[in-house]
Amino acid sequence: MTFKSLGLIEALLKAVRLQGYETPSPIQQKAIPPILEGLDVLASAQTGTGKTAGFTLPMLQILSKNSVLHRRPLRALVLTPTRELADQVYNNVKHYSKFLDLRSAVIFGGVNQNPQIKHLRNGVDILVATPGRLIDLENQGHLSLSKVEIFVLDEADRMLDMGFKRDIDKIRSLIPSKRQNLMFSATFSREIKSLAQTILQRPTVVEATPENTTVEAIAQQIYRVAKEKKTNLLIKLIQDGNWKQVLVFTRTKHGANKLCKKLESARIFAMAIHGNKSQSARTRALSGFKNHEVRVLVATDIAARGLDIPLLPHVVNYELPNIPEDYVHRIGRTGRAGANGVALSLVCAEETSYLASIEKLTKQRFKKEIIDGFEPDPNASTLPPKQGGGRHQRRGGVRPTNKRSGFASGASRSSYNRRR
Ligand code: AMP
Repeated sequence: MTFKSLGLIEALLKAVRLQGYETPSPIQQKAIPPILEGLDVLASAQTGTGKTAGFTLPMLQILSKNSVLHRRPLRALVLTPTRELADQVYNNVKHYSKFLDLRSAVIFGGVNQNPQIKHLRNGVDILVATPGRLIDLENQGHLSLSKVEIFVLDEADRMLDMGFKRDIDKIRSLIPSKRQNLMFSATFSREIKSLAQTILQRPTVVEATPENTTVEAIAQQIYRVAKEKKTNLLIKLIQDGNWKQVLVFTRTKHGANKLCKKLESARIFAMAIHGNKSQSARTRALSGFKNHEVRVLVATDIAARGLDIPLLPHVVNYELPNIPEDYVHRIGRTGRAGANGVALSLVCAEETSYLASIEKLTKQRFKKEIIDGFEPDPNASTLPPKQGGGRHQRRGGVRPTNKRSGFASGASRSSYNRRR
């Protein structure tokens, strides 16, 4: 299968060649033909599957075929849940449209709106946006959505998690009812299905990889540890293993900040990326991490969503997510593009039920290891941690149980020291 055989025009093939892609990824093979036919598409795909090119390439082809109007009304709208994802999609659009006469822009909140307004004033064919800023600028009369032909909803599940349902409904009311709709989501909960019904018309459904199966290239290790020993264990792992680029997940923003400080005091350069950080702080952290200046990036699930960091060797779950699907997203950040990766989880007693839910969802039973000097606390409660200020919404069907999992029976002394 080649990009050419999918029916893409030369200007796009050239741009794809420039990116160095040789063959289309599975989601691209499945999504590009129906989109080119003008059909609505509902796609199950997460970051790392090549989904962005999967919708961007055919979208650009359709737009380039219709004659460019002098005043360039907005003809394609891509909605994303986060600023980072918006920026990434925009960069993709720019790369792939390099040899086409199409203009694009990106808008998101948290930064001055004036440069964005100025950009829009020149006329753009494609707009990538987060919902809040889009509605703001529409309200102020800086853009019109009345000529939108293609509407893309990227990471729809995360949109709902972040409470954007009302914004999506509002935006839907501003675009013409006759249009092509593309919706991408990593998971398919009842809410996602009902959202799809309100947006898509007789969609072609495509899937990238079977949902909720974890990538084989990723080695998954579970360390049982006492809660208060987690930080020191993480420091030991980073230092002993001489890890250079580690993505660490915490459940809360506060937890991310706290961990960063502790890593810093151990002279491990770390930065946090989460919703309370300013846009410039997030961009700085991400680019520092990508170019290896920042050794550890500590992230919450929402902030990490959609970040495009290729070839990550180590992902650590400092805390397990309370939504089991997030585990699959998190570890999907390693072992990408054919590289081997290691996903490590530090699990304390109160995360027992989260681990059980993850095992149930991913249909696997992990070997639980213990590292000498970092033993779990045998007296700690196995009740799940209190939910303070975090997300409460739950996707999908699996709920954590309060039952004791196979912790006690499943654990083995670590072969960690021997293995190294
Ligand atoms: P995405 O899932 O869209 O975030 O893409 C993940 C990564 O895969 C990005 O770095 C893309 O540049 C890259 N990518 C997309 N399509 C291909 C392809 N056909 N071959 C190789 N890499 C690709």
